[in-house]
Amino acid sequence: MSHGVGIYTLGCLKCRRTFNWPSLGDMTYGEILLHGERGTVHRYVSVLNYAAVWNTIGAVISDRSAEGSALWWRLLAALADAVDGQQMGVKGVCPFCHADSTSFRTPRRAEKAPERGEVDDATFEEFLALSESARRERVVAAAGEGWPERCPG
Ligand SMILES: [Zn+2]
Repeated sequence: MSHGVGIYTLGCLKCRRTFNWPSLGDMTYGEILLHGERGTVHRYVSVLNYAAVWNTIGAVISDRSAEGSALWWRLLAALADAVDGQQMGVKGVCPFCHADSTSFRTPRRAEKAPERGEVDDATFEEFLALSESARRERVVAAAGEGWPERCPG
């Protein structure tokens, strides 16, 4: 499956190059794009898909963080299958110099209207192949150092 997106021309303040970057637009809720760690691959995720993954995230972080918050998306991204060897994340980086998205600008001569494009849905095959206890360990690991919860078993 894939999802329709707008493809915008962006420039990077650090390396001065321009590149194409997909966007869902401003009026989106419950869906985001994930970006590869080298900035050259992108995947679509939404709250309407991946119930099994969301359930495990919810079981681990329970009521410590409001559902749908940035932490939930960050965890979902961390659990997605790698694409082209790239770990997926919620933050975009320049495909040339890997500067973060605070360096992204719309070039003055860029087309205002985006081209239409497609981004494939993220997959979670590796994560879903794990046992439930192993899945929970992955979520805890993805939540990072200092996370207070410890998985049972
Ligand atoms: Zn750059």
